[in-house]
Amino acid sequence: MKKYFTLFVGLFLISTSVFIISCESQELESIDQQNPLEDFILEQAYPEETGELIQILLEGEEVEVESVNKHYILEGDIKVLASETDKGVGRVGGRWPNNIVYYAIQSGMPNQARITNAIAHWESKTALRFVKRTNETNYVYFRNGSGCSSYVGRIGGRQEITLANGCSTGNTIHEIGHAIGLWHEQSRKDRDQYIQILFENIQDGREFNFRTYTEQGQDGNEYTSSLDIGSIMMYGSYAFSKNGQPTITRRNGSTYNAQRNGLSNSDVDGINKMYPPSTATGIITLKGNNNQYVSSENGSNPMNCNRTSIGSWEKFEVVTLSGGKVALKANNGKYVSSENGTKPITCNRSQVGAWEQFTLENVNENIYALKGNNGKYISSENGTKPMTCNRTATGSWEQFVISGL
Ligand SMILES: [Zn+2]
Repeated sequence: MKKYFTLFVGLFLISTSVFIISCESQELESIDQQNPLEDFILEQAYPEETGELIQILLEGEEVEVESVNKHYILEGDIKVLASETDKGVGRVGGRWPNNIVYYAIQSGMPNQARITNAIAHWESKTALRFVKRTNETNYVYFRNGSGCSSYVGRIGGRQEITLANGCSTGNTIHEIGHAIGLWHEQSRKDRDQYIQILFENIQDGREFNFRTYTEQGQDGNEYTSSLDIGSIMMYGSYAFSKNGQPTITRRNGSTYNAQRNGLSNSDVDGINKMYPPSTATGIITLKGNNNQYVSSENGSNPMNCNRTSIGSWEKFEVVTLSGGKVALKANNGKYVSSENGTKPITCNRSQVGAWEQFTLENVNENIYALKGNNGKYISSENGTKPMTCNRTATGSWEQFVISGL
């Protein structure tokens, strides 16, 4: 515990010194919106601007957002894409498959250490892994700009986390929290059991920042049993105050300090439910789009995708090879072979040669295509005949739901 604390003090000192060197007036201005005892800036997408409040349709519900610079802003630092308003966001939808968040950093971005430190923090506390993007479609792009802001959950395509020079490592940890699917802690639907919102003290036009995500029509779901005032996603007592009086207090009326040092223990508990650490059995099943499972046929026949339930022949071990390739080993101890695409695939090889190597190409969520070393894809043949590895493109028969990865 002590080590944990020391690490955060260290991170904080790094970010504070950078803040003093490089902060801009807009970040300083936002400090007076919160408890002066708090040592972080409140995340806002456009600290100097108050946008027009408009109604948009989000997840089929009318939601009030602030429209600033052609962006829709919810709760100060959450961006909503108008064109994406029917896509899943939040704690239920918008997950990153396989616990992997791909990312890129704008070249020339100032103080990149706050990003790499924030990522290192997330990786040290959770099962999420952050991988530099090569050509992946869905990724987080850290860029310089106004305020600190992010979208909630994986929205598809390139999604930005914007960090002004004054945004610290702690602010970056918070914005990554949004990108992996977290709302603000004070937006929990059960928050009234723990805190009071004092609407009379909130800046005019900012009241919408204090709605629960249920009131906003979002698909929130709680992953911890109670509200955690120590969450890195929690606003402080004086967030968006117009008169120096608190906007959020505990139920008993007392104020509190929020923190931006790191994930709280409760944050970690909730994230572990959203992104469970791998059970590391390495055993998977493959289901074709015909809803049937791939069978090894125990190595005695060409493989089929026509099983309605999972027995021992429908389980495969993923063996990781160099170059990002994998081999699939069945319960007979033999490996799946592509047969180089010239005949139906089998599971009867005792060693891994070139034909026994496959690349898993992520199509969406836990759906994958399997590419042999001949550059062709494995087809389920819709379960009607033995499977082959001779398709040049991935249609629905070439897509498999892989469970257990
Ligand atoms: Zn936020």
